[in-house]
Amino acid sequence: MALIYNTWLVGLSVFVAISVSYTALRLASRVANTELPYERAWLIAGAFVMGLGIWSMHFVGMLAFSVAVPLAYHVPATLASLAVSILTSGFALAITRGEELTLVRLCGAAAVMGAGIALVHYMGMAAISIVPAISFDPTLVALSIYIAVSASFVALWMFFRLRNGNSWQRSLFRVGAAVVMGSAISGMHYVGMAASRFAAGSYCSGGIRLDQPWLAASIGISAMALLAVTVVTAVYDSQRQSRARRHAQKLHEVNVRLQYQATHDALTGLPNRTLFIERLHQEISRAEHSQQGFAVFSLDLDRFKVVNDTLGNAVGDQLLRRISGRLSSLVRLEDAVTRSGGDDFLMLICGVATRTGAAAAATKIVHEFDKPCEIDGSAVHASASIGIALYPADGLTAETLVAHADEALSCAKDSGRNTFLFFDPGPSSVSQDRLDLESDLRRALVLQQLELHYQPKVDVVTGSISSVEALLRWRHPERGFVSPAEFIPLAEESGLMFAIDEWVLREGCRQAREWQSAGLPFIRVAVNVSPVNFRESRFLCAVRAALADFDLDARFLEVELTETTVMRDAESAVVLLEDLSRMGVVVSIDDFGTGYSSMSYLRKLPIDKLKIDRSFISDLATSLDAVSIVKAIISLAHSLRLKVVAEGVETAAQLDQLRQLGCDQYQGFLRCPAVLPAAIVAIMRTQAEQPGPSDKFGHLRTQSKLGVFSRRSGG
Ligand code: C2E
Ligand code: CA
Ligand code: CA
Repeated sequence: MALIYNTWLVGLSVFVAISVSYTALRLASRVANTELPYERAWLIAGAFVMGLGIWSMHFVGMLAFSVAVPLAYHVPATLASLAVSILTSGFALAITRGEELTLVRLCGAAAVMGAGIALVHYMGMAAISIVPAISFDPTLVALSIYIAVSASFVALWMFFRLRNGNSWQRSLFRVGAAVVMGSAISGMHYVGMAASRFAAGSYCSGGIRLDQPWLAASIGISAMALLAVTVVTAVYDSQRQSRARRHAQKLHEVNVRLQYQATHDALTGLPNRTLFIERLHQEISRAEHSQQGFAVFSLDLDRFKVVNDTLGNAVGDQLLRRISGRLSSLVRLEDAVTRSGGDDFLMLICGVATRTGAAAAATKIVHEFDKPCEIDGSAVHASASIGIALYPADGLTAETLVAHADEALSCAKDSGRNTFLFFDPGPSSVSQDRLDLESDLRRALVLQQLELHYQPKVDVVTGSISSVEALLRWRHPERGFVSPAEFIPLAEESGLMFAIDEWVLREGCRQAREWQSAGLPFIRVAVNVSPVNFRESRFLCAVRAALADFDLDARFLEVELTETTVMRDAESAVVLLEDLSRMGVVVSIDDFGTGYSSMSYLRKLPIDKLKIDRSFISDLATSLDAVSIVKAIISLAHSLRLKVVAEGVETAAQLDQLRQLGCDQYQGFLRCPAVLPAAIVAIMRTQAEQPGPSDKFGHLRTQSKLGVFSRRSGG
């Protein structure tokens, strides 16, 4: 019985085969380049789409033929061939996913896949409920299986080679590969068809009749639509992923740069004070185990100001570089040298536990300064004074050791310079003063000598004010205002910090509520939290209690934590910050850029704002480095959907620059220093009288991070 072709449907089936091949190539690359949870999803979805595609190709191909009798299909057998097609496709995708494709694996895989494709075809043929059954020409059947296996071999190899990359050559090559492979699959199919013999006088019994060309066309077209959707999704997903990858790379670069900047001195390239203190911490924990002491030297050039004034800053800078080089060459690898500012240096001398040992090292250094430095052809003389503190005799913490070495240094300078002195632990006037201050501070809370002043945070674009930072002031009966910079370290050391921060927190909440009750526009109050309190679980309780006691909505409270506080123990900071965020409290990272930020944590933290440290803002006009850092911080913050606040803005030029860089808010003397609550009331009243945006909560809306977080945590 002769077979009659429908040329249109044959064409359609070949086209479906090519589309399946193209889709398969895209999917193979998607599966290979996706992270785990998505990889499995792509694999399963891919198996279904490809399987359906291959099966439709065969089905359309079969419907393209008609015999003298109308054909009918046995439905379960037809569906079984579909299942085999999906399994085979899943197998092919899984194979190309591996790291490496050996020849043995390739041959095995090609055999399984070829057999699978052939099986789909012959199962489809077997599903035709015709009597007598179709017979097959064994040579042609063998040829069709051979074509299927070798097409699979070539296809799998191409899959593997083409799965990476997105260049246009690769895309073109992919199209070529899809044409080759699609033709091979069709070839297999039509050879298989040629192998089948329908006996004269055959008739169909049972099954469903499916010989209308429109049915074939609609199956073929739906299959292609499905394939097209898949390809578009795969391309989109791959672009999304490569964007994410580029993003991560950029974050990493900013991270490395910020870390270097944050830990090194720009002029000399020496590690800076932050890194030095960190190094001291390490040395202390090492020394606790090894019982081996060490020395900290604080060194200062004697006539540096004269050099700078008479020979100019350029020579001064060169001198500092030379001296850094010399100091570094005098110490051993395990020691450390840092320029801690101006012409001050700090040195860690390991393994020196006695005064004798330290004196030998200091003598060597002082002598080294006898030799002049050759700068621009002239000899520049500089001598140095050194103050020495020994661990453990002169202090047990990094900060005390440095403070004591500094104290010894100033004595060395007083005693005639060009020499070194050891720290003298005798009761000095300084420490007596400190003791007095400490006992005064204990009383200050009770006597209500502490008060809060408020500094507005201003919107860079609109100039409007929606939040203020509470800054602590101590009105001392004799000393007048004592700066927080002076008494906060003292409070931290003497265990008063929790009581102080708790007072600030409550007073801030009370004030915010009072302003609201007075009918002022809503203002958020930001409070600073000391690193020593941030780890305490009672801190969270204090926040909860303050909000409840003053009946303040959590979004009107903001907590400022310094970058160092958060990053010192980032893992547990995440937990605490999540609790704060869940409550609805806004979190800012203060003094950003001065510590070591780990971007990987920054991405995880549920925070809302970064506050760029004052030092970068004051350097904006003079240092290109500062500009590029501020720019990097802003773009980093925005990419993490955080707002950026600049602190210490003192000039209109700085504000202009920040506006150009896209900074969101600023604080600083340019607009307003920290002022009494009454002044804030006046500012807010004036602002309320001016026509402004009607959305009175708009400016208070917090960042999306919070939203994302609460969605993630389901509450
Ligand atoms: P901070 O959190 O970085 O606060 C900003 C400091 O910069 C404040 O100094 C503020 O008065 C000052 N400032 C504001 N605008 C400008 C400007 O345009 N130029 C310059 N040069 N400075 C500006 P303040 O009030 O002396 O506070 C110093 C530090 O003391 C604060 O630094 C904060 O770390 C700490 N502190 C202040 N209040 C509290 C508090 O209630 N609790 C805790 N734990 N720490 C506090
Ligand atoms: Ca602050
Ligand atoms: Ca700050």
